Amino acid sequence: MAFSDLLGQNEVKEKLNRVLETGKLGHAYIFTGERGIGKKTFAREFVSAAMCTNRHGSERCCRCKSCTYLESENNPDLLVISADDGKSVISVDRIRDDIREAVSKAPNFSAKRVVLVESAEKMNEAAQNALLKTFEEPPEYAMIILLCDNLLQMLETIKSRAVIVELRRNTNEEILAKYRKKQGEAAASSGDVTPELVCSYADGIMGRIDEIMNDGDAMESRRTLSKLLPGLFEGSIEAKNSIMDLIDVKSKKYDFVFFSMISFVRDAMVLSRFGMRTKIINADFRDALHALGGSVGYYRLKNALETIDECYKNLAKNANAELAVDNMLIKLGMRTASGY
Ligand SMILES: [Zn+2]
Repeated sequence: MAFSDLLGQNEVKEKLNRVLETGKLGHAYIFTGERGIGKKTFAREFVSAAMCTNRHGSERCCRCKSCTYLESENNPDLLVISADDGKSVISVDRIRDDIREAVSKAPNFSAKRVVLVESAEKMNEAAQNALLKTFEEPPEYAMIILLCDNLLQMLETIKSRAVIVELRRNTNEEILAKYRKKQGEAAASSGDVTPELVCSYADGIMGRIDEIMNDGDAMESRRTLSKLLPGLFEGSIEAKNSIMDLIDVKSKKYDFVFFSMISFVRDAMVLSRFGMRTKIINADFRDALHALGGSVGYYRLKNALETIDECYKNLAKNANAELAVDNMLIKLGMRTASGY
């Protein structure tokens, strides 16, 4: 296993390969990029190679004690810190006490002792200041890795003392390469996940491919949604309630349902305006979406698209998300006074 086995992020791979080959390892790294982009995968690979006691160039050996224990998720030289279940912050105590204790001892089996902080933006200012002490004078054998969705939430003093590794959105070619690889691995469950759907939903983010290809429920909910949409636009309460169940606001796993709803409405809108043969994302529902476009009409669909998009964008910060979704669905079922 090496970086070359991971798909995409060529700049990041080159940068980290160079560090590992020359052995000039820094003591602090921040892996940053959007949720699902692969920060953890790349950081884990980097950490494994850095900890390996028998590294060849940039590749870990997979046989030394460090490699074997990491493989079984059981290497005491690696401390992983994340927010406790249900908590949105990483406490200052964990940063001050756990990290200080971890880096106070030389590694047992590995070339480095590593602390990896997941969702580092969940450290508040006090926690980040506590971390700064270790950042300033780390022992030779210690390495601190932060994974961070949003760099803006990190203190300048932290950022300026770390090497920033920025993961960027993947190209559609890279997305399709992973899609084909996964399709080869699990052909049975991914029947209706088409390349168009994958590229459109992934939007450059590798993790989203797993979301729809590992989970048969995602495709099932998409089929259900396609059947419910005509009823929703006719103002059916049953259709509205069923879509409410599909979105399942509390689960917070509604990204794909929202994506499906937005892309269905967009496709129906495009078909109603530009005709049956226009290129769409959900080509497997072409007939149904053409019919929806015909019955609802271009302008009402266009308004609907804006309504759904706005609700989706504000959902995460909405105190009463359930009510917001309910209002959105009711609005979609209403014809405006002008008859649209
Ligand atoms: Zn090794």
